Amino acid sequence: MRAQVFHGPGDLRFEQLPIPTPQAGEIVLKIDAALTCGTDVKTLRRGHPVMIPHVPTVFGHEFAGTVSAAGAGVRRVREGDRVVAANSAPCGNCRLCVVGRPNLCEDLLFVNGAYGEFIALPPRLVDRNVVPLPRNVPAARAAFVEPLACAMLGIERARVEAGHTVAIFGHGPLGCLLAMVAASQKARVIIVGKAGWRFERVRALGLGECLDATAGDVLAALRDTTGGHGVDVAVDATGRPEVWEQAVKVTGRGGTVLFFGGCAPGTSIQLDTRQVHYEELTLVGAFHHTPDLIRRAVELIENGAVVPDGLLTHRMPLESVPQALALMTKGEALKVLIES
Ligand SMILES: [Zn+2]
Ligand SMILES: [Zn+2]
Repeated sequence: MRAQVFHGPGDLRFEQLPIPTPQAGEIVLKIDAALTCGTDVKTLRRGHPVMIPHVPTVFGHEFAGTVSAAGAGVRRVREGDRVVAANSAPCGNCRLCVVGRPNLCEDLLFVNGAYGEFIALPPRLVDRNVVPLPRNVPAARAAFVEPLACAMLGIERARVEAGHTVAIFGHGPLGCLLAMVAASQKARVIIVGKAGWRFERVRALGLGECLDATAGDVLAALRDTTGGHGVDVAVDATGRPEVWEQAVKVTGRGGTVLFFGGCAPGTSIQLDTRQVHYEELTLVGAFHHTPDLIRRAVELIENGAVVPDGLLTHRMPLESVPQALALMTKGEALKVLIES
């Protein structure tokens, strides 16, 4: 099979590999749809010790496919089933899994290999994080399940409610998915982004009100539009410390700040202790997803509460993954659908 293989930072090679055969408890999928992700761009630049502990590996982590072979003992799915799989599976036994926070599992097992024609999924993933697809969910839409589940975890952590004003900083694919999930819960959504091709595209999708951060004082604009109160929930989806600080500043009394975007290692932020204390802010992080959210993400897509199709700005063949990631880097694509 043909595959894009990650050998280390800056080193992605298009190679011919044998089609995997499933061991006991494993399944092999023929990949029907894979999506590019901002994480791929970061990983290609500097590696990723958590998601990619060993190289070489086939690259990419958002995908849906059809079971082409199942190993001995697999009962949950069979050959010919269309499924979506998460890119990880929790152990189920550690301290955090036991208390119901499997996204923080101390032994998360990550899987990579969306940018190949086939992928073998290990038994733990098959048991916990492979979900059969309803007939009305095409593969390209199903491949959004993993990032959508991350966005759902964030909105859940921020306790977004109907009628809340939610400001989302960042108009990348995850900012957009966060906006869609918040809107599906009847919140008022304001996306704060930077003027340019991608922001215009997001504006055209109608995911919420759009506020151009380069056009003036964001803090003042958000105060104005909330009757001087500040927002109920502010979300950082940029992963930049200065934006984390801005998100705190725009949050009103009793509000919540969700730190969704991961910043570079070693960075820190300054907090106004008076504001956090006397205005009783809730500051909360959100990381990754859970098996339960992966299933609920399939449901949101199935019942049409979230329709992510508008985030697909390009489709490209497997050999063009480097070009697709280059478009992402330049901010000229939201998500690229990779078809083998
Ligand atoms: Zn991703
Ligand atoms: Zn665990």
